[in-house]
Amino acid sequence: MQQSYIGYSFIFCCLFIIGLAQASIEKYQQFSSAQAYQHCVNILKFGPRVSDSPGIIQTQNYIKTQLAQYGWQVHEQRFKSSTPIGGITFTNLIAYYAPNNQAIQSDFKLANKLISCHYDSKYLPKSKKPFLGANDSAASIGIMLEMAKLLAQVSPELAKSTNFVFFDGEEAFGSRMHYKNYDHKDGLYGSSYFAKTYQADFKTQPTYLINLDLIGDSNYKVLLSKTADAKLKETAWNLYKENKKQDYSFNLSKAKLNILDDHIPLHQAGAKVLNIIGDFQKMSYWHHHEDDINNISATQLKAIGVFTLDLLHHL
Ligand SMILES: [Zn+2]
Repeated sequence: MQQSYIGYSFIFCCLFIIGLAQASIEKYQQFSSAQAYQHCVNILKFGPRVSDSPGIIQTQNYIKTQLAQYGWQVHEQRFKSSTPIGGITFTNLIAYYAPNNQAIQSDFKLANKLISCHYDSKYLPKSKKPFLGANDSAASIGIMLEMAKLLAQVSPELAKSTNFVFFDGEEAFGSRMHYKNYDHKDGLYGSSYFAKTYQADFKTQPTYLINLDLIGDSNYKVLLSKTADAKLKETAWNLYKENKKQDYSFNLSKAKLNILDDHIPLHQAGAKVLNIIGDFQKMSYWHHHEDDINNISATQLKAIGVFTLDLLHHL
């Protein structure tokens, strides 16, 4: 009797946990693929989003205007850095949930869960046509804006413990990215500055960072970075396997090689990180002007958005 009671309790608990997991996925299925795609289209109309250019200023204003409609305020972290093409002013945008027109935080503190992407596009002055970076990384911006809207609507408590961070200056100005540490680099300008200064500037240290990059093209695998918090990566992997059949159309793998991206400075600063990135080395259009809207799949934007929200929910 005792044994079967324990047995029934165990089964009940399992069903309850599975039920909760399904409930969270169902909530996030309201993610609008059309809206995320439209954000991407709108952002590409601003032209190249090179750091410190008119295009990136328009993109900043677009991000801030959209987020304000969903109850998010944006803290701007502005700094200047020398680059191979001279001094550039960079601006990281850090969105925090403050509904009902709450006053802007004077003493800004970071939440403990960060979702990030870069919003600059690569400086390619010799390109035959302007480089717009649809997959690199307007697609990620579109997903993040739609995620922020949905979190505010269906999980306001989770929204309060989350920041959406839009890093400037991920791209190198030279042809290849160089990175040894926060101060020795070309590329990762925004995330390096953020990682170096957040304890002094915001008096808090985030626990988690999930970074998205190049994830809008359904023709390529999506990779979980090799440099990652082991438990966070396993949680992501298990969620994908559990929901693969009915919910996730993308093909997820674990990266075998190290990938240099905005998660690295945060990893070095002690955060638990995971980079979710398309298999860019196989994309023939990567860092070429052919990286345009034709590569972006609305269905893929939704799948990655729902997956990332579900992962956030399980942290
Ligand atoms: Zn790039």
